[in-house]
Amino acid sequence: MPGVRVWGRLLGVHAAVVETVGFDEAEQVVVVGVRVRRRDRDRCGVCSRRCPRYDAGRGRRRWRALDLGTVRAFVEADAPRVRCHEHGVVVAAVPWARHGAGHTRAFDDTVTWLATTTSRTTVRQLMRIAWPTVGSIISRVRADIDAQVDRLAGLRRIGIDEISYKKNHRYLTVVVDHDTGRLVWAAAGNDKPTLATFFDALGPDRCAQITHVSADAAAWIARTVQQYCPDAIRCADPFHVVKWATDALDAVRRQAWNTARRQPGGSSRDRRGRRASAGAAQGMKRARWGACQVVCV
Ligand SMILES: [Zn+2]
Repeated sequence: MPGVRVWGRLLGVHAAVVETVGFDEAEQVVVVGVRVRRRDRDRCGVCSRRCPRYDAGRGRRRWRALDLGTVRAFVEADAPRVRCHEHGVVVAAVPWARHGAGHTRAFDDTVTWLATTTSRTTVRQLMRIAWPTVGSIISRVRADIDAQVDRLAGLRRIGIDEISYKKNHRYLTVVVDHDTGRLVWAAAGNDKPTLATFFDALGPDRCAQITHVSADAAAWIARTVQQYCPDAIRCADPFHVVKWATDALDAVRRQAWNTARRQPGGSSRDRRGRRASAGAAQGMKRARWGACQVVCV
């Protein structure tokens, strides 16, 4: 029936058979009853191998799906358990949700995408879920992607840097792929052992394929790169080049300003008797932000 298939498409469960569509007056939610197709039945929730049925589990259960307009929606189906020779007794896999998830794949994917593009408050309010739930969804999707995609494959030109959080009390070391512009690796810490775990994960063959590494002047990065990628060209990244030039220019400006304000006419007293720069010294004092803009341009 075309109408039933539309419901499956709407909720991202087109791989299953939609049996019923109803409105739960008590919960004020749309509930779509589905069943798993024969070819997808009795598969291990972890490895997806076909396994013998163990029992009916806890009977019918619901998975939160993407909202239908202003109304929350749930997919409802049987959740039997199977006995996998590798993973033991587990809940059988369903094609519309990841193993152990209380949300559909479409819901998980939407939350994860939103988390990369907007604030956590927006995600929480828009999707009507708790913030800890956002974290567990992101972890689930990340594990799923990591099992399918090798982020470290094909790296040639990379950038290494550190970023701080917790008011500069903690640091993350991050690695980006300059060819794709994507973050490919990050870990807590900003020292040589932390960065070494990245190159260990990369392996000697792929380390040898790295041609360029950009970084700031941190000695621990330089030493680690020298150890693992001795043939790679090390470059200073533009952010730090501009920062160093700005700092150097400002140091020279301060020297010139101090010299000028000690000259006759270089300073005066204001109405409250405070010493203030005057003449050429006043112009140099105000030149700070202009100099920064020149360097940045
Ligand atoms: Zn299994």
